Amino acid sequence: MAELLQGKPIADKIKQTVAKDAQNFKNQYGIAPLLCAVQLGNNHAAQLYIKAQKKTAEQLGISYRVYNLSLQTTHNQVVELIKQLNHEKNVHGIILGCPLPKHLNVEKIICYINPCKDVEGIHPENLGNIVLANEAVIPCTACAVMEILQSINIDLYGKEAVIVGHSKIVGKPLALLLLNKFATTTVCHIATAKQGMLIEHIKRAEILLVAVGKPNLVRGIWIKQGAVVVDIGINRVGNKVIGDVEFEEAFKRAAFITPVPGGVGPLTVAILMRNLLKTAKMQSIGKK
Ligand code: NAP
Repeated sequence: MAELLQGKPIADKIKQTVAKDAQNFKNQYGIAPLLCAVQLGNNHAAQLYIKAQKKTAEQLGISYRVYNLSLQTTHNQVVELIKQLNHEKNVHGIILGCPLPKHLNVEKIICYINPCKDVEGIHPENLGNIVLANEAVIPCTACAVMEILQSINIDLYGKEAVIVGHSKIVGKPLALLLLNKFATTTVCHIATAKQGMLIEHIKRAEILLVAVGKPNLVRGIWIKQGAVVVDIGINRVGNKVIGDVEFEEAFKRAAFITPVPGGVGPLTVAILMRNLLKTAKMQSIGKK
């Protein structure tokens, strides 16, 4: 039977440190660190995410400002707002609420955020720094997974790590973070599945990290005995939220496994706030 890897205790520790850092920042500079969210339209999931961020920010002594723009806002208008926030000295972090309407290209817009205010760690400069093992601001979910692995003191050196899912904000940065720790890292994606090779890779994973968004994609019987399983997927099925890994069977085989909900999820907002303190400090030492 596996040991459950709950995210909340790790998130609570991170939040404690962030709250102290926010207080120290305020003592030193006379203002609270400020996170600005730019949101287009009223997407329900995005609104919930912003509400959760605002609540956590306030609990930790961080100011949180939301810019609610209409769905018709043009590329130039969003970029103008970002440039204005880049220049505002008291703005320490900028977060772009996704999904953006179809007429806007998120990757182009992100390039306008000052990398020292990019709390989500998705500006090409911050992503590129991970390639160089010079990690500055790391995408929150990938960082959350690394925190979970660190919480069990696992030595990643030479371990067989298999990631399923190669998205730009989760799978790919996670692969680089694992490589930076010398894990032998395999990244599986849609082509791996189409070639029927998913099972083969998963079966030899000592550390399995799944970020796809397909309920029960990974069968429990594929899990190597004693593996560490981090399920990043979030899928609403009926009135339940489940992950990408068939939990009951995986639980019998793994040594450690994250529950969904309650595993990776609770950590992401805490890490976002920690990133904000990082970017706030970067600006206060005049990096940019
Ligand atoms: P995404 O951008 O949709 O990426 C999904 C990835 O899975 C893609 O790389 C896709 O490959 C790959 N894929 C699709 N079908 C596959 C299959 N049958 N076998 C192997 N790979 C397959 O999603 P994401 O943003 O990375 O998020 C993934 C999941 O994590 C979602 O459920 C999301 O809700 C969840 N998530 C959770 C948190 C959290 O805080 N816990 C945070 C972020 C995301 P192609 O692109 O080549 O098709």
